[in-house]
Amino acid sequence: MLTQVAEGVLVHQSEFVQSNAVVVQGGSGVLLVDPGLTGAELECLADDLAGLGQPVVAAFSTHPDWDHVLWHPRLGEAPRYATALGAATMRDQLADPATKVRIAEHLPPEIHGQVPMDLLGLLIGLPDGTTELPWDGPVVRIVEHRGHAPGHAALWIEDRGVLVAGDMLSDVLVPMLDTDDDADPVEDYLAGLRLLDAVAGVAAVVVPGHGSVGGAGQVRERIDQDRAYVQALRDGEEPDDPRIGPSAQDGWDWVVGVHEWQVQQLRDRSGARPSSA
Ligand SMILES: [Zn+2]
Repeated sequence: MLTQVAEGVLVHQSEFVQSNAVVVQGGSGVLLVDPGLTGAELECLADDLAGLGQPVVAAFSTHPDWDHVLWHPRLGEAPRYATALGAATMRDQLADPATKVRIAEHLPPEIHGQVPMDLLGLLIGLPDGTTELPWDGPVVRIVEHRGHAPGHAALWIEDRGVLVAGDMLSDVLVPMLDTDDDADPVEDYLAGLRLLDAVAGVAAVVVPGHGSVGGAGQVRERIDQDRAYVQALRDGEEPDDPRIGPSAQDGWDWVVGVHEWQVQQLRDRSGARPSSA
């Protein structure tokens, strides 16, 4: 089911981790961001778009994680863009034939065997430094930053006041730092949040990769919440964060495990790092 969140902007939510696909209506069809998860959901999305009479004319993946790079034949053959680094990272991963097998094997039980893998990750990298998505529709600005994943980008649809945040600004997931590929994920994450700060005053809607869509007041609130969490990690303090507190929504207690794992990762890294003078 597509839900309108702003004029010409609709969201299709997956049951799995409340993953949000975003549809932006343009002149000759729609832009589709991070299409979604299971085969049944992708078919449902394709049905909804057919109902609107709107073909997919362009797509964008916010970052090269499996849940953001899926596709279904019924969505057609539009170019699927990502940042240059995002697409290159995906291409490197797929160069190893074991990657898809590993992703499929590690899918959580509730979606195991239900995620179409054939067209996973076939992305076109936009030239480095591209600031606007090439398509026939409202201007979509690409806000690239490190911190969560290589080549991660938020999209800012200024005319509609919509910030598509990728895997940031979630009300259910704490910031997940890229402790694998990023030399300084904490500072990079904070720098990414500063980039989003620039639109916080004017954005009317924020669509996170996972979680609920937020209204105007929540853009600033979520940026501040993510920043406080990352700063607490940096400073070795226990974050006072509702997403990992006793009030966390039912079924989301595993986020505490993610948090504890990150604390450990950062601790291991700082221990392994040669002491700086
Ligand atoms: Zn995700």
